[in-house]
Amino acid sequence: DDEEEIRWDKIPCRFCGTGCSVLAGTLGGRIVGTQGDPDSEVNKGLNCIKGYFLSKIMYGRDRLTTPLLRKKDGKYDKNGKFEQVSWEEAFDVMAEKWKAALKAKGPTAVGMFGSGQWTIWEGYAASKFIKAGLRSNNLDPNARHCMASAVGGFMRAFGIDEPMGSYDDLEHADAFVLWGSNMAEMHPILWSRLVDTRLTREGAEVHVLSTYKHRSFELADNGIIFEPQTDLMIANYIANYIIQHKAYDKKFLKDHVNIKKTLTDIGYGLRPDNPLEKKAKNSGKGKLSNMSFDEYARAVSKYTLEYVSRHSKVPADKLERLAKLYADPKKKIMSLWTMGMNQHTRGVWINGLVYNIHLLTGKISEPGNSPFSLTGQPSACGTAREVGTFAHRLPADLVVKKEAHRKVAEKIWKLPEGTINPKPGYHAVLMQRMIRDKKMNCYWQQCNNNMQAGPNINEEILPGWRDPDNFITVSDPYPTVSAVSADLILPTAMWAEKEGAFGNAERRTQFWRQQVDAPGESKSDLWQIMEFSKRFTVEEAWGEDLVARKPEYKGKTLYEVLFKNGQVNKFPYKDGTVTDEDENRYHNDESKHFGFYVQKGLFEEYRRFQTEGPKQGHNQAPFDEYHKVRGLRWPVVNGKETLWRYREGYDPFVKKYNPQVKKGDVYFYGKKDGKANLIFAPYEPPPEVPGKEFDLWLCSGRVLEHWHTGSMTNRVPELHRAVPDALVYMNPSDARKRGIRNGAKVKITSPRGSITTRVDVRGRNKPPKGLVFIPFFDAGRLVNKLILDATDPLSKETDYKKCVVKIELA
Ligand code: SF4
Repeated sequence: DDEEEIRWDKIPCRFCGTGCSVLAGTLGGRIVGTQGDPDSEVNKGLNCIKGYFLSKIMYGRDRLTTPLLRKKDGKYDKNGKFEQVSWEEAFDVMAEKWKAALKAKGPTAVGMFGSGQWTIWEGYAASKFIKAGLRSNNLDPNARHCMASAVGGFMRAFGIDEPMGSYDDLEHADAFVLWGSNMAEMHPILWSRLVDTRLTREGAEVHVLSTYKHRSFELADNGIIFEPQTDLMIANYIANYIIQHKAYDKKFLKDHVNIKKTLTDIGYGLRPDNPLEKKAKNSGKGKLSNMSFDEYARAVSKYTLEYVSRHSKVPADKLERLAKLYADPKKKIMSLWTMGMNQHTRGVWINGLVYNIHLLTGKISEPGNSPFSLTGQPSACGTAREVGTFAHRLPADLVVKKEAHRKVAEKIWKLPEGTINPKPGYHAVLMQRMIRDKKMNCYWQQCNNNMQAGPNINEEILPGWRDPDNFITVSDPYPTVSAVSADLILPTAMWAEKEGAFGNAERRTQFWRQQVDAPGESKSDLWQIMEFSKRFTVEEAWGEDLVARKPEYKGKTLYEVLFKNGQVNKFPYKDGTVTDEDENRYHNDESKHFGFYVQKGLFEEYRRFQTEGPKQGHNQAPFDEYHKVRGLRWPVVNGKETLWRYREGYDPFVKKYNPQVKKGDVYFYGKKDGKANLIFAPYEPPPEVPGKEFDLWLCSGRVLEHWHTGSMTNRVPELHRAVPDALVYMNPSDARKRGIRNGAKVKITSPRGSITTRVDVRGRNKPPKGLVFIPFFDAGRLVNKLILDATDPLSKETDYKKCVVKIELA
C-alpha cells in the first residue's frame, strides 16, 4: 500500500510548433515516462518519436547544476577556466559588466537573445525587463531565424499576425500543397492527420514542392523539385494561370482585397561592404504602392508556363497540374509551409505570393480553404510573436515605433511617459555583428544555441563572443556549443521543472504545472530575469530625469517597479486552482517563491494588452481557465475559441469591427478598410549562386529524430543512436563525378569555412544534381559555419536554404 503510484498530468510537448499534448508520469521526483494524451484535439493520443522520449531530455549526465564563471586567480577572467560560483557572485559580475556598458554607451550596448521555446511569461518578462527596464530594444528571439518572414507576410497582407485557419482544416481540405515543408519529418503528427485525409477522402491529393526530395514526397501525387529561389516564379505563374483562365473570384477581389506592388531593390541584408550586397539601395524598406487589377495581370503575365518551367527546371505538366488545382472552384485547398519559404532572402514576398493565390480565388478563412504557416518552435506564436520579444515589437502586435502603441505599454506597465525607446533594436543577425564590432558589449542568451544555430559562425559570431571587451552570458541546462563559448553559464530549469505555457501554430495556448524540481541550483529563465532585475535601481537604468517623472519610484529596483508593482504581484498563489498539495510541494520554500502567482500576474497583465491596445482580436481566456482544458485557440470570447478568423459566424470580432457584415461574409479587420493586401512581387535572384569553384547548392535543416541543435535529443540515447551524425546527403551522380563513394569522408567548403562528414547517397533525403543537404543538429559538425548570413531585408530572417559549397574527399 505504501508503494508510490505514478502521477500523470497533462503537459505540451517541449519540441515542435505542432503543440502535441502529452501525459507526463512522475515517480519519486522524476519524470519516468510520457504518453500521447488521448484527450488532446491536436494529437489524439499520438506523439512522434521525439515526444515519446520526452521523459529523458532532462536527465543527460552532463546536466549543469551551478552557475559557472570563467576565472583565474580567484577573479573573473575572459581567458580563465569555468569555475563553480554562487548565483550571488554570478549576478554580481554580470551586473557590474552590464552597468559599465550602460554607463559608457547607453541602452544599445546591452541585449538579450531569447526564444520561441521560452514559456509565454518568460518571453513577456524578458520583453518588459529589456524594453521597459533597460530601455533597450535589443531583444530578439530565435524565431527571427524561423518565423519572421511568416510574420512579415501576415502583417503586410492582413495586418494581424498568425494563421486565420486551424488544424481542423486538415480534415476539411480536398487538397494539400506543401510549399517548402517536409511535414513528414518536421510536423509528423499533423502529417499523420493529413495522410488520413488523403487516404480516406475521395479525390484528395497532395502536392509537394521542394528543392530536394524528402520523406513527404512518398505521399505526393505531384512531387515538384524546383531550382532554389524559383518558387517566386512558380507562385506568380499560378496567379497568371488563374487570371488567364478567368478562375479568379471577381466579387471577392472587389469586396475584400486591395492590390499592391512592393519596392524591389531591397538587397540581401548583408554587411554593406559585402560585394554580394551591392544591389541594396532600399534595404529594409517594404513600401507598397497601389496597382490596378490590369496592371497586376500584366505583371504576372511574364510568368508563363514555358518561362517558369525553363527557369525552375520543373516539367511543365507538373506546374500546370498545380495551377489547375488552385484554379478549380470545387477544390478546397490547404497550403502549408515552414522554413522552405521563411528562410529565404525573399521570405516575406513568397509568403505574400501564396496569399495572393488564395485571395485571387477567395479560398481563405473557411473550413478547408487555408493558407497555413506552420511554426518550428513550441511557442514561436505564443511567446516569440504574441508577447513582443522581437526587436521592433511590444505585446499583442504593437510596435515600438508607434507613439500610440508605446503609450499603451507605458500605461499598462506603469512607466514614466517616454520610457520605451522608439527605435527598434538589433535583430538576431545584426546583434552578432554589433557584438563583433564592439558596439554591443553585454549579451544574454536564453533557451537557444546560437553558436550552433546562427549563420556564418566563424566570421560573425565567435570573434565577438571571445572579444575581451564583451561579456557573454548563456543560460542553458547543458554545456552546449554556446554555453562553452560564453563567459558565464547559468544553469536552467527545463520544461516539466517549471510552470509553463506555450502557444502553438494554430493559435492554441496550452498551460502546464511544474511536475518536478530542477536539479541542484538550476532556476527557470523567468526566475533568472526577475532576480537579475533586482540588481538595478531605476536611477541606474533610466537616469534621474525619467525617474523624476515618477517620484514614487525613487530608489526602487527594476524588480520592484516591473515585477512587484501592482498587477503582477496582485495574485496570491492560493487564488485559482492551486491545491494544498501544490502549496506544500512548491510554496513553503521561500527560494521557490516564483511559483504560480507570479506567472498568473504576468499573464493577466499581458491580457490587458489584448483588450486595452488598439489591435484587438488576440484575446486569451483568463489564466485559470487554461489549467482546466487542453488549450484554447484565440481569440477566446466568453470561453469560446475561434477556429477560423475573419469570417462572420466563426470569428466573434468580425461583427465588432463591422456591424454591417452578414453571416458567412469576410472582413479582414486587421486592415483599416477591412480589405487584405494582395501584393505583387517579382522573381529576384539569390545573392550567391553556384559557379566554377563553389559548384553546389547547400541547404540545411532538421531530421525527425532531433530537435534543432540536438542539445536535448542527442542526450536521449535512443534518439542519438538512431541518427548519431549529420551526414551530407548527395545525388549519386554528383558523388561519382568527384570520385566519392557512399559513406566516404568528405570536406565541404563554402567561402566562409569547412566541415567534414560522411556522404549519404541513398538516405532519406535525395537531392537533385547540383544540391546537397546537411542537417544542423550535430555539434561535432557545425554546418552553419558555411551558411551565408544573408537575410530577407524585410523580415531580417536568414536564408539557410541556399548558399554555395564545394565537396572533395577528406
Ligand atoms: Fe508532437 Fe512535434 Fe512533439 Fe512530435 S515533436 S510529439 S509532432 S509536438
